[in-house]
Amino acid sequence: MYSVADIDVEICGATKCRLCTQFCPEGNTILYDEIRGTAYVAVDRCKGCEICVGICDDLAKHHAIKMVPIDQIKEGFEISKIGFKRTLVESE
Ligand code: SF4
Ligand code: SF4
Repeated sequence: MYSVADIDVEICGATKCRLCTQFCPEGNTILYDEIRGTAYVAVDRCKGCEICVGICDDLAKHHAIKMVPIDQIKEGFEISKIGFKRTLVESE
């Protein structure tokens, strides 16, 4: 079992921050929902490197990302199933 990044959208959405989206080494993995104003993770692409956790904790100082075992992620966004264009709002 491995862990993936999980973003607290309540914390992230209260900021104007997009910092982690510039640092994830995996393309199309941390995405940004323009409607809700929050970053979110494509759990099927996250490699569990934890770089985003350090960025959010140490650089952005928002502490919005935790690593969570993949089997504990409920209804995680999967880009391979849902695609680019649908936002969190549309997929709810
Ligand atoms: S670094 Fe943290 S607060 Fe900033 S966009 Fe990423 S998850 Fe949100
Ligand atoms: S843990 Fe690594 S691969 Fe996963 S979202 Fe964060 S920076 Fe990207």
